[in-house]
Amino acid sequence: MELTIAQKLEALLKLQSIDSQLDEIKKIRGDLPEEVRDLEDDIAGFETRIGKFNADIQTLEEEIDKFKATKKDAEKLIARYKDQQMNVRNNREFDAISKEIELQTLEIELADKKINEAAFKIRNKQEEIKATQSALDERKEDLKAKMQELNQITSESQEEEKALIDERDQQATHIEERLLKSYNKIRENALNGLAVVMVKRGACGGCFNVVPPQRQADIRDKKKIIVCEHCGRIFADVEGAPEPLPSRR
Ligand SMILES: [Zn+2]
Repeated sequence: MELTIAQKLEALLKLQSIDSQLDEIKKIRGDLPEEVRDLEDDIAGFETRIGKFNADIQTLEEEIDKFKATKKDAEKLIARYKDQQMNVRNNREFDAISKEIELQTLEIELADKKINEAAFKIRNKQEEIKATQSALDERKEDLKAKMQELNQITSESQEEEKALIDERDQQATHIEERLLKSYNKIRENALNGLAVVMVKRGACGGCFNVVPPQRQADIRDKKKIIVCEHCGRIFADVEGAPEPLPSRR
C-alpha cells in the first residue's frame, strides 16, 4: 500500500524523534567514557613517574654506598699511613707520608660532599613522590566516582536504549528503502543528527536559513517531499498557523 506524502513525512518525523532520543542517550554517556579514559591515562602517567623517582632514589642510594666504601678505604689507608709515620727514618719519608694522608683526607671530604649531594637529591625525589602520590590518590578517587556514575548511567539507560532500538527498527519498516537511505545519509552528515526538521519562525529547523513564504506553503501542502536548499534536510511541516500573505485584496 502506497503511503501519502503526509504519511511518509509523519513516519520520518517519528523515526527522527526516536533517533534523537538515542542520540541523547549516547551523548550523556559519551563524555563519561572519555573522562574515565583520561583519568586512567593520568593515573598510568603518575605511576610511571613515581616508578622513575624510586629508580632514581635507588641509583642515588647505590652511589652513597659506593662513596661510603671509598671513605672507609681512605680511613684505613690513613690509619696505616699514621702507623708508618711512627717508623720513618727521615723527614723526607715523613713528609711523603703526610702528603698521602692529606690526599686521603681530601678523598674523604669529597666523598662526604658527594654523599650530602645525593642525600639532598633523594629528599627532593621523596618530596616529588609525595606530591605525585597525592595527585595520584586524587585521580583514583575521581576515577572511582566516574566509573560508578558511568555504570549507573549505562545500566539505567540500557533498557531504554534497547526499547528505543526495537521501536526504531519497527518504525523503519514503515518507510520505503530509498527514503530511509537518504534519511540515514542526511543524518550522518548533520552535526546535530537531525535529518527531518520543521520550519520554525520562517526558518529551517536544522540550519536556520530563511524559508521563503511560497516554499513554506508548498511544505504545508505536502504534495511532495521538500528538502532545505541550504542543508538538504527534509521538511516535515511548518510550525504554527500560516502567516497571511502580504498581498492586499
Ligand atoms: Zn536547512
